Amino acid sequence: MISTSDASVMTLSDVTHSSHTLAAAQQRLIPATCRFRMRQVVASLRCRLNANMMNLSRRYIISAVILCTLLATGAQASESWSDHQTVGRFEIRSEVPVRQSQALSEFVRSLPHHESDIVSSLGLTPNQSPIVINVFQSRRNYLEYMTQHRAAGRDRRALFIQSKSHGSVYVYLHAGVVTDLRHETTHAILHSSFPFLPLWLDEGLAEYFEVSRERRASGHPHRSRVKLDARLVVAWHPSLVSLEAAQDLSDMSAARYRESWTWVHFLLHGPDGAKSVLLRYLSSIEAHIPPGSVSTRLREVWPEPERQLTAHVKSWK
Ligand SMILES: [Zn+2]
Repeated sequence: MISTSDASVMTLSDVTHSSHTLAAAQQRLIPATCRFRMRQVVASLRCRLNANMMNLSRRYIISAVILCTLLATGAQASESWSDHQTVGRFEIRSEVPVRQSQALSEFVRSLPHHESDIVSSLGLTPNQSPIVINVFQSRRNYLEYMTQHRAAGRDRRALFIQSKSHGSVYVYLHAGVVTDLRHETTHAILHSSFPFLPLWLDEGLAEYFEVSRERRASGHPHRSRVKLDARLVVAWHPSLVSLEAAQDLSDMSAARYRESWTWVHFLLHGPDGAKSVLLRYLSSIEAHIPPGSVSTRLREVWPEPERQLTAHVKSWK
């Protein structure tokens, strides 16, 4: 385990504070959006490491890699796990015996289906890269752990970090823990297959798969708000090009999370041709071929994809 007193070890705080945009955004964290915000910090870090690697300073890249190693190693060294289960490539470490939590038990049982749903829906090549899921008994324990390992910020609810060797998910037990587990595990599964993902698509897919499979098409909480917005001209200005420009926290908001989810829903459940655009795009990324943008690919099919998106939303019952 890397010593946290080692001055040469960079922490999440160091990394995020090396980026003015991320640091500034963190200071605007508010409780109502802490889960979104913290996931965004990590997603931004991940996306920056991959999509924009050529533009990053050497220090930034090295710092982030060390950070991932630090947290992942720390999780493995913890002595507080009272339960340890393996499901396929997933390792679940929990401070509470899984069988004592109905939500946790159901999530663990559903993990193989969750993974196979994502793999089959997106045409991924299955892989066995390990994913470690760390479940803390309480927010207090979670925060103590994060403080011990000097991870930045206390306004977070769940965390995903991709290291060179595996993905790590960190959550704590609360009423919405299964949603957090599905969301963060979706990130982990995606990042085990893709060398990078655009921020909007990474979050849109995680939002889409964070609900149970029977609610994905027509039962997501975003749906009613998006339907309402689409009826109000003043509140409805979707723009995939604008979403694609999002690079970090300061570019995202709760509304942009909803719009990202809406585009993913359109791509998976929209008109003929929409899903094949998504699958070809993801296939290019998986094959390390420069993918261009989804908006450009959609415009090759529909000159105004936003009009198709609006028609799709208005078709919802
Ligand atoms: Zn996320």
